[in-house]
Amino acid sequence: MIPYGRQSIDQADIDAVVEVLRSDWLTQGPSIERFEATMAARCEAGFGVAVCNATAALHIACLAAGLGEGDWLWTSPNTFLASANCGRYCGARVDFVDIDPLTWNLDAHALAAKLDTAEREGRLPKVVIAVAFSGQSCDMRAIRQLAQRYGFVVIEDASHAVGARYAGRPVGCGEYADMTVFSFHPVKIITTGEGGLVLTNRPELAERLRRLRSHGMTRDPAHMDEPSHGPWYYQQVELGFNYRITDIQAALGLSQLNRLDGFLARRRELAARYQTLLADLPLSLPTAQTQAESAWHLYVVRVQVQRLSISHREVFERLRAAGIGVNVHYIPVHLQPYYRDQGFGPGDFPQAEAYYGEAISLPLYPAMTDEQQDEVIGQLRRLLVDARDD
Ligand SMILES: *Cc1c(COP(=O)(O)O)cnc(C)c1O
Repeated sequence: MIPYGRQSIDQADIDAVVEVLRSDWLTQGPSIERFEATMAARCEAGFGVAVCNATAALHIACLAAGLGEGDWLWTSPNTFLASANCGRYCGARVDFVDIDPLTWNLDAHALAAKLDTAEREGRLPKVVIAVAFSGQSCDMRAIRQLAQRYGFVVIEDASHAVGARYAGRPVGCGEYADMTVFSFHPVKIITTGEGGLVLTNRPELAERLRRLRSHGMTRDPAHMDEPSHGPWYYQQVELGFNYRITDIQAALGLSQLNRLDGFLARRRELAARYQTLLADLPLSLPTAQTQAESAWHLYVVRVQVQRLSISHREVFERLRAAGIGVNVHYIPVHLQPYYRDQGFGPGDFPQAEAYYGEAISLPLYPAMTDEQQDEVIGQLRRLLVDARDD
């Protein structure tokens, strides 16, 4: 089976991990700070806070944004569950903004319209999570303008978008988002096994994120309500978590970061080959947004079902049977039973639902060979040419 995605680990990655295993620090050591600083520098951000996964990163980013009970968080329905669940962890209510039918990202026009209504009804969101779906940023410039006008915090869920660029600058630079979150799960752009990171330019947010990552503890006398008892002293000043990453993981992340440009170049090359070699088939291919340079975490096509004698599901199943590890990203979050229990249902976000009825993620990862890609394209071509109705 040719998988839809997989990690790429080389000897340098293994050596980096082994070096930490032989060192004094398995966690809370120097590799973490180095990883944070290197990621921040690469993305032109002021501060990086690394945590155990991107779900935890989203959770503490929402808390640092002040999200709590009685507040609203809005995000795209075309995302992984975590982009919505982070609002629920804070006791906030979650709502969604439908997607753009071409980029499959949260639609900034739909956001503007929904904000207008929400303002009149007195239920504006405190946080909007803009998901950089498949590695391509949303229309962040428009979203930033809306944030200015309506006063919400912008968190970019850039789990797919390590190394992507927007408007000539790296995703994470903080020009448009207050905080940017990355994931280092093995299928993502670079991996630490499990891992996540928040980038921000605001020192008070970075400090709060660090505290929330580690039990709500501080060792800074400036943040204590009484003089220190001695060198051992710390205070818990709020409720935090153990969301720390290990030095073992951070060392792997640093080593992977050395290889990021190569990963991105190969992903771009494979995506460009798909764009050319699939152009004549009854498929809608990804549309690049002006301004955005995708990291190509996913290569998604929409099967034009009305031009075929077989269903979306049959296309998927036949590709799997032919050894092509296709996937579907994503089941609209608002249709999950948990969110239906909160009042959502079919028809609420028609663009995301129509997309779900047609989307298939094709294999794409840096170690994929041209021959493997040709096999994917060949199988897909055979299937669609046979099933073509028009
Ligand atoms: C993978 C992913 C997450 C969660 O990442 P973890 O590191 O696995 O917690 C969140 N949002 C999106 C869009 C993702 O793809």
